[in-house]
Amino acid sequence: MSELNVILLGPPGAGKGTQAERLQDDFHLLHVSTGNMLRAAVEEGTELGRRAKEYMDRGELVPDDVIIGVITDRLQEEDAQDGFLLDGFPRTRPQAEALETALKDLGRSLTATLLIDVPDDVVVRRLSGRRVCQKAGHPYHVDTNRPKHDNVCDIDGSRLIQRDDDREETVRKRLQVYNEQTAPLIDFYDERGLLKRFDGTRTPTEVHDHIRATLATLRLEDEI
Ligand code: AMP
Repeated sequence: MSELNVILLGPPGAGKGTQAERLQDDFHLLHVSTGNMLRAAVEEGTELGRRAKEYMDRGELVPDDVIIGVITDRLQEEDAQDGFLLDGFPRTRPQAEALETALKDLGRSLTATLLIDVPDDVVVRRLSGRRVCQKAGHPYHVDTNRPKHDNVCDIDGSRLIQRDDDREETVRKRLQVYNEQTAPLIDFYDERGLLKRFDGTRTPTEVHDHIRATLATLRLEDEI
């Protein structure tokens, strides 16, 4: 079966993590979330975590040279060989170019970039109510996606917390960073014929159905 190498693109709070959780089960893809990797590094107090924390707390991007190496190494590991789902990377043009080069060197290529589009005001409302589990970052929302038991993750039983960077002031900063540095990647991938757009204001299930159908078609086309 041909491999699916997919990028999830969209503002913070678009539902990239939620969709990635579902799609990795549908298509047996490795979910690579740079945000989750960096938060784990901060938690563990590694060198990477120490370098990343100050940027993350301010809602700014970690420098390209820090994150690019992390991802290119990760994609060469055994469990990434049958396809991957990148969530939160690339976020700048240099990151997108580095990914393109790294995949080319490995004799691999991108299948598609999935843009989950959501207006700014919806992002702010969503993120200020977001809670994530401490262990794996599984996402919940105080109004729209409550866990079965208060403050406990349905999947792994760990405690739910609000991320420091989900406070409203930081959310606005992250949106500004997205619009300035990451949104230009929409044209970057459109020019390469790789961009697929999804309406992120629909329910998670509707977005998921739409993406799943698109990926299934892309895989079929690739096999023919
Ligand atoms: P996320 O959970 O994807 O919103 O990421 C949380 C924070 O981690 C971001 O606000 C950035 O500070 C940092 N981060 C995650 N991915 C990247 C990336 N590809 N490039 C730079 N910084 C990143």
